[in-house]
Amino acid sequence: MTPESLHSAFLELAAFVEQRQLAQNRELWERQVSRVTGRRTAGPAPEALERQVRLFQETERGIDQHAGCLSQQEARQWRVIRSFFDPYRAPAQSLVRMTKLLHRIELALSPRAPRAKILPVNRHKRWRCWRGIGNDAAREAAWNACITADPQLGEPFAELVDLRNEVARALGYADFYEYRLRCDGWIPADFDRMLDEMDRATAAPYERARTTVDEELARLWKPFPAGTCWQYGDPWVQTAPAFLPNHPAKWLRPRPELLVQRTFAGLGWTGKYYRQFLPRQASWFPNAFCLHLNRGADIRIAANLGPDVHSLNLLLHEAGHAVWFAHLDPRLPFLLRTPAHPLLSEGFSMLMQRLPFMPSWVRATRPGRSTGVLRHERDLRRADWTDRLFFTRWSLALIRFERAVYAGGGAADLQALYWSMVRRHQGFEMPQGRGDCLDYLSKHHLITHPASYHYYLLGMCFASLLTQRLAGVQGHDTDPLDLDLTGRSSVLGLPTAASLELGEFLREHLFAPGADCDDPFSFAAKLCGQQLSTTAFLEDLARLEMMS
Ligand SMILES: [Zn+2]
Repeated sequence: MTPESLHSAFLELAAFVEQRQLAQNRELWERQVSRVTGRRTAGPAPEALERQVRLFQETERGIDQHAGCLSQQEARQWRVIRSFFDPYRAPAQSLVRMTKLLHRIELALSPRAPRAKILPVNRHKRWRCWRGIGNDAAREAAWNACITADPQLGEPFAELVDLRNEVARALGYADFYEYRLRCDGWIPADFDRMLDEMDRATAAPYERARTTVDEELARLWKPFPAGTCWQYGDPWVQTAPAFLPNHPAKWLRPRPELLVQRTFAGLGWTGKYYRQFLPRQASWFPNAFCLHLNRGADIRIAANLGPDVHSLNLLLHEAGHAVWFAHLDPRLPFLLRTPAHPLLSEGFSMLMQRLPFMPSWVRATRPGRSTGVLRHERDLRRADWTDRLFFTRWSLALIRFERAVYAGGGAADLQALYWSMVRRHQGFEMPQGRGDCLDYLSKHHLITHPASYHYYLLGMCFASLLTQRLAGVQGHDTDPLDLDLTGRSSVLGLPTAASLELGEFLREHLFAPGADCDDPFSFAAKLCGQQLSTTAFLEDLARLEMMS
């Protein structure tokens, strides 16, 4: 291929990937949210796809031969194109089988599919956010309704695991999880080392936090059967119970939309960044998500929100994604008009989610009535510490479970494997009589977004580094643990010079560049002034314990 024909092939492939990504976004929205749930729009005709795969292979050879034929920004787009076509190196029949199987499973998971048990939304909120449920049998029933997965999913999921491994091995990787890690720019040994560090450093503090929480719960509910996992108001015990006396739910008047809008206004972000949609399923929709549908102004959040602290957390997280999407430089080519790495965007959203644990933010939500919060600042620190530990131990259990699933293949006893990870990291035994259940499939990400849970856990490490950097931007003695996004404003939504500067910094340095960089990890290191590591996060944890 001549340099000119290479260039036109590059443009054709970029346009094809753009069209596919737009179509996939529309399909995802239709399946998950809109009224035509379950319909799958036709993909490209097999001959058209085959033609593009051949064109990609020829172009790849040409680009390898003509080093420097692409500009720097085109080379970055080429990496996106390559990762799109990478799976097509695997045997075509494996890919076709995998797509069909995934479609079948997604239909079974769709909000329209009948669920064995549906937990009414009020009961769920009460269990989770308000005051808990005083009766142990009712708590168990609530947990059971959230955790129970359709028993018919077990076999197709096991097959999906084996197919994903088959594809990954055809591409030269040990298994699918390793393939995904490599695609995301990780060196698997470094990744495992970070998990080991998180595990070692949080095991003992988690024990201490659990002991205190259990004592508080035992005072709240009598009898309190210790060691049962339905006492915490969270099906997976991934957050601290919101009904305990030191939780910020006590001081917050959670009107999620209003609080998010005011937080953004304080940072000088005054646009209407997203539209919010209520998913069709009315009872329980645990998978809130934000979609940048057209990589333009169409940004949508699907969430079932109420006036409770769990909804506030969900919206702060998803709105964090929305505001990033909205501030991506519109001049970026389509393929780079996205955050540089999911770890960074999840990290920023995890930071937004921490706001209800930050005294300055909580105070600003209640101007004129902040003395109570001041008096209980230690309680907020304790709740923050507990919540981070619960989240860390839950993440470790799930990440290591999924890693072990792909290492061992779908034929293993996945329910036993799941509970062995829960026992090891969170300290809960499998309740009696659940040997034949599929509790691990209550988390749909395992099916729809495989090998992605580490984005949240390691995203929190990025968030700790980012808060240190942002505290420096503010230029006063801000404690990174109390980020003071309000810039010392006493009223949430009233900007100050400091808060506007912070908003501008995030817009310009974190959001706008998108994926227009050679290495997202170097991008993050340059932004924060240090390499991504667990150190800052673990230091934050230690300081929170001392402050509480
Ligand atoms: Zn997210």
